[in-house]
Amino acid sequence: MCAHAELSAMRNLSGARHLQMVEAMAARVAVNGFGTIGKRVARAVMLQDDMELVGVTKTRPTYEARIANREGMPLYTIDDKQLSLFEKEGVRVDGVLQDLLTKVDIVVDCSPNGIGEANKKLYEEAGVKAIFQGGEEHELAGFSFNAFSSYDEAHDRKWARVVSCNTTGLIRTLYPLDRMFKVDEAFAAIIRRGADPAESKGSALNAVEPSLHVPTHHGVDVKTVLPWLNISTMAVKVPTTNMHVHCIHVKLRKNGVKTSDVLSLWDQMPRIRFVSGKHGIKTSGQIMEIARDLGRHSGDFAETVIWEDGTHVDDNSLYFYQAVHQESDVIPENIDCIRSMMGLEKDASRSIRKTDRSMGISK
Ligand code: NAD
Repeated sequence: MCAHAELSAMRNLSGARHLQMVEAMAARVAVNGFGTIGKRVARAVMLQDDMELVGVTKTRPTYEARIANREGMPLYTIDDKQLSLFEKEGVRVDGVLQDLLTKVDIVVDCSPNGIGEANKKLYEEAGVKAIFQGGEEHELAGFSFNAFSSYDEAHDRKWARVVSCNTTGLIRTLYPLDRMFKVDEAFAAIIRRGADPAESKGSALNAVEPSLHVPTHHGVDVKTVLPWLNISTMAVKVPTTNMHVHCIHVKLRKNGVKTSDVLSLWDQMPRIRFVSGKHGIKTSGQIMEIARDLGRHSGDFAETVIWEDGTHVDDNSLYFYQAVHQESDVIPENIDCIRSMMGLEKDASRSIRKTDRSMGISK
């Protein structure tokens, strides 16, 4: 395909194509695991006119269980042993997971890393589809998802895995670069947040901790979605909670690409947003402040954020920095994954637009 045709194809992701919607039925959705990711997925499902949030689960009657009650989300426990505990604490419950599974078409599994395998057996028995998160191995679902690159492949699947926050961020910027200019090689140094803001354990308070298993799994994970991409990664954990930051070097195959070409390509993609040091945005903390200023729910920033003035092409080498809000960038991906797996919308660009509009994600 020529460069112009490639660009038009990618523009379609951000909005120009009009294809038909397949069916207008609502998908009945459960969220199993109402923690950092689960509560955000549940809220996003509630914003969709083609989905119904049938229920969420909690293992214990914590404050998050009360939030589910307060936000009108039907709440279920994992098994009947905890029912009395919830009742004793005055938390309203509608039943147990097994009951919930009889009422839904698809479950978004947001349980902690490694629990998905046991849960998959329950979903299998109940005959429901499931989406797992990036903390699970690719093999659990046999298919890893990103809305830009693999929306069509998710159609009508039974299992899928939405890749992790870092992998999502890398795919969003590298996939269009590869389509447009071809990526010969990519390397990303990942500066990882030590813990999520609500966590009380994570990285050391005053130290930088390198991931010693090199190259790190992040590049391997990108290849579960883009197997042809020549990418490697290294990572360090730092004492911050707000975002991950990636320092990326890409060798472009196409000659003569200018910095402005790269920026204008990303500018046409959804879920990519620029910030600029010239405008005073020099840290991940300031990006989080923008999210709050924009009135985003929970102060989330689901787009991958690129420093416009930290992007530079020198010969065929592209250098750039991007920031990833770990708690939220995978949320719109989960919504698109539901839509594709449930056959609610055949066209990636339409689904992405619909999701983004509902969540207040805009350029
Ligand atoms: P979390 O610990 O914040 O939430 C997990 C929730 O699952 C908790 O409410 C916990 O009580 C509940 N739970 C525990 N055992 C359960 C069980 N057997 N069945 C159902 N629920 C159970 O974790 P999280 O950060 O939301 O992570 C969930 C998944 O999302 C993981 O795979 C993780 O790797 C992935 N992920 C996390 C982030 C992040 O930064 N937090 C980003 C992207 C992807």
